Amino acid sequence: MNVTSLAKPEISLLIPAYNEGEGMERALNTIVNILDTIGNDWEIIVIDDGSKDNTYERIGLYSQSEPRVKGVSFSRNFGKEAALLAGLKYSQGKAVIAIDADLQHPPELIPDMIAKWREGAKIVHAVKRSRNTDSLAKRLAAFSINQIISRLGGINIHNASDYKLLDREIVDILVYQLPERERFFRGLSSWIGFQEEYIEFDVSERIEDESKWSFWSLVELSITALTSFTSVPLRIVTFLGLMTLVLGFAIASEALWSWYHGQAVSGFATIIITLLLIGSFIMISLGIIGEYIAKIYEEIKARPPYLVKSTVGFAEPNGKA
Ligand code: UDP
Ligand code: MG
Repeated sequence: MNVTSLAKPEISLLIPAYNEGEGMERALNTIVNILDTIGNDWEIIVIDDGSKDNTYERIGLYSQSEPRVKGVSFSRNFGKEAALLAGLKYSQGKAVIAIDADLQHPPELIPDMIAKWREGAKIVHAVKRSRNTDSLAKRLAAFSINQIISRLGGINIHNASDYKLLDREIVDILVYQLPERERFFRGLSSWIGFQEEYIEFDVSERIEDESKWSFWSLVELSITALTSFTSVPLRIVTFLGLMTLVLGFAIASEALWSWYHGQAVSGFATIIITLLLIGSFIMISLGIIGEYIAKIYEEIKARPPYLVKSTVGFAEPNGKA
């Protein structure tokens, strides 16, 4: 190992990749070319999130001719959030940039982000201008999730993406001062505060194939986002209870009134509707409470958020923790 590869680079680029073998080389070429325009003091860390294709082999091959490209491989698919966390831990740069492997995050922004960082910004968010490439359903889902989280959680992640530059100070906070296991990178990096800057970009079409997120992994991410940032849903449970109580009083007094005046107490329809309504309120409430308990359970088990199978290109064997 020569001295330069042991010195800490100025910029670290993190690329989480799940089954991105096909586009890997082109993505790396594009990013390397852009990084070369800003200097040679950088490293690229590709986190292979348990890909089933040849993503990791491609990274290894690339790394042989370009030692500044390194790879971390997970034992299985742990999800993008885990991949980002691993990337942050393995990175050494004074500034760290997270970018998608599918080039939907235009790498041409990298020099601008670095410029803003050099001017003093601690976090540079790349913000989506539009997302026309997604289906209406996905856009609607994304919009409502962002709205709910922004309203309830009190943080603004509207149009936020995971395409960000973080100063080393922020990276250290994210990695070492936030003890939670399940993370929502997008929300956390704006929760932290510090001096933030924004750059807008247009999301381009995914070149290879469709998105690597399944519907359920998006649902899961939204639940993590919600439970991580707000306990308002738990208050909704209390609110539902109060509503039921008021409804109960109304129906009870109506029934008593009828009984007092010798009229038949109104019948089956009322009972069945009330029962179903209250039943569903109870189920929803249990579900909400369940989500929080599940979150507590996950956190308390304290399992590592990911397991590394092997690494390539790092100075020390198997990188670092
Ligand atoms: N990704 C990952 N693990 C996963 C799913 C996705 O590391 O379980 C990576 C993927 O390879 C890509 C990035 O996360 O680099 C964004 O994924 P994708 O493009 O599928 O998501 P979208 O663009 O729809 O947000
Ligand atoms: Mg994408």
